[in-house]
Amino acid sequence: MKNQKNEFEIDLYDLRLHPSKYKDFEIESSFVDKISNEVIWLNNESNIKINVRATNASDGFYLNGAVEYELDGSCSKCLDDIKSKKTTKFDALFVEEILDDEKDPSVYQLNGTYANLVPLIIDIIGSGLDYKPLCSANCKGLCATCGENLNNVKQHTCKKSNL
Ligand SMILES: [Zn+2]
Ligand SMILES: [Zn+2]
Repeated sequence: MKNQKNEFEIDLYDLRLHPSKYKDFEIESSFVDKISNEVIWLNNESNIKINVRATNASDGFYLNGAVEYELDGSCSKCLDDIKSKKTTKFDALFVEEILDDEKDPSVYQLNGTYANLVPLIIDIIGSGLDYKPLCSANCKGLCATCGENLNNVKQHTCKKSNL
C-alpha cells in the first residue's frame, strides 16, 4: 500500500517562486478509501475526478475546484438502491506547517512542494453524506399498511384497508 503511487498528489514546485501564479490540474483515478455512513457510501468502483486550480498565495497554496464522484446507498423512504453522481466545489489552503491554534478544517499540510489531495477528498465527500438520502426529491415511499413501493404504482388502493 505504501509504495502505491498516489494519483491524487500534485506537485506545486513550479508555482513556488511565482507569487499569484496558478496551475490547473485534472485528475481522474480510482479511490480506495472507504467513505460511508450507515446509509450511503462512496462507490469505489467508479473513478473520482477532481479539477483543481492551485494558486501561490502568500500564506501557502490556495486550491479551489470541484470533485466529481458517485454515491451508492438506499433510499430512506422506499429503500430502493440509490446511485447518484455528485459534484462538490471546494476551497482549501495547503501550508508548510499547520499551527496548533489554527484548526481550520480547510487547511492541509504540504509534503514538501507536494499537496496530497486524499485527505481533502475524504473531507469533502464525508461532509456531504446525507443521513436521509432519497432516490428522488418526490419519492412517495412505502405504503404504511402493505409495504408496497408507491413509486411503482400509478394509483395505490391498499387491499388490506379495503377488507
Ligand atoms: Zn425512494
Ligand atoms: Zn398498501
